[in-house]
Amino acid sequence: MIPLITTIWQTQSWQQQMQQMIRDPEQLFKRLGLDIAARPELIGALKQFPLRATEAFIAKMQPGNWNDPLLLQVLPQAQETEPQPNFIDDPLAELDANPAPGLIHKYRGRVLLITSSACAVHCRYCFRRNFPYSDNNPSQKDWQQALDYIAEHPEIHEVILSGGDPLATSDDYLDKLIGRIANIPHVETLRIHTRLPLVLPARITPDLIKVLTKHRLHTVMVIHCNHANELDDTSTDALKSLRDANIHLLNQTVLLKGINDRAEILIKLSRRLFETGVMPYYLHVLDKVRGASHFDVPESTAQTLMREVLASLPGYLVPRLVREDPHASSKRPLALL
Ligand SMILES: *Cc1c(COP(=O)(O)O)cnc(C)c1O
Ligand code: SF4
Repeated sequence: MIPLITTIWQTQSWQQQMQQMIRDPEQLFKRLGLDIAARPELIGALKQFPLRATEAFIAKMQPGNWNDPLLLQVLPQAQETEPQPNFIDDPLAELDANPAPGLIHKYRGRVLLITSSACAVHCRYCFRRNFPYSDNNPSQKDWQQALDYIAEHPEIHEVILSGGDPLATSDDYLDKLIGRIANIPHVETLRIHTRLPLVLPARITPDLIKVLTKHRLHTVMVIHCNHANELDDTSTDALKSLRDANIHLLNQTVLLKGINDRAEILIKLSRRLFETGVMPYYLHVLDKVRGASHFDVPESTAQTLMREVLASLPGYLVPRLVREDPHASSKRPLALL
């Protein structure tokens, strides 16, 4: 369907949209018809972690609504700068599991590559908001150390591209990196964790799909969708094209106070994901990262919510409620019954 009004960003390439994303809070508020004078305290938090949001993501927000569930994911809040004793820089102790630049090996059988430090949105709850990307952002030639590590560990069957957003890199870069991963015989699965199908759906081009499917590995994509409003037509079209190419699609959500901490919202999200061909995978309780305490939902509340979700949906649409413990051997499922 041709939209009645096409705005300029909709005609731009994904690279242009990425370059021209909104970084200035005043511009964001103007788009949404919100008066920044009403919330001057928001600006202080930007020094810690700047604002980033694509036009495609902003287009899904409801104008005039300070409590829009998508706006709240990117909106700096005054509480971010208040010290909270249990909220720290590296809550998952990832830097203890960092044997080569850009590589994190915490769980048996799979490793994570920090493929890019760039994101098309800055999610205020991000557990890597304080991650030292400058020490962990290898250029292409530096991948050698990480790839040697994988080659020397025959128990590694899955390589996860993470970030930042791995799809914020070029097709050519991904093609070369994935090609080198596929050359390691014991690697069977390539997994990509990304928000771009939601926040920059124009990134999902036929050329990208070719890059993601031309090698011998199974390809899994885990999107990070927190609310059904993120799944508009452009995003669902992008996701359907990935699924048509036999890419397994899973979703993980972070449980966020004021955004998705009601059973009906989680139920609707699971249903919308399924319609789009995406299976719910994890519901994470918040990682206690400095600056994100205002999103925290107590675990007992999370468990109560999930019992309601479990009572309302078929089992295959119920995500696993998990917590990430710094030194555990996997994500830790929280009991529901
Ligand atoms: C979450 C995570 C994984 C993947 O865990 P799964 O349970 O397989 O989804 C791998 N490595 C790290 C460091 C992680 O945080
Ligand atoms: S790494 Fe993921 S959660 Fe963090 S800011 Fe980027 S897109 Fe958001």
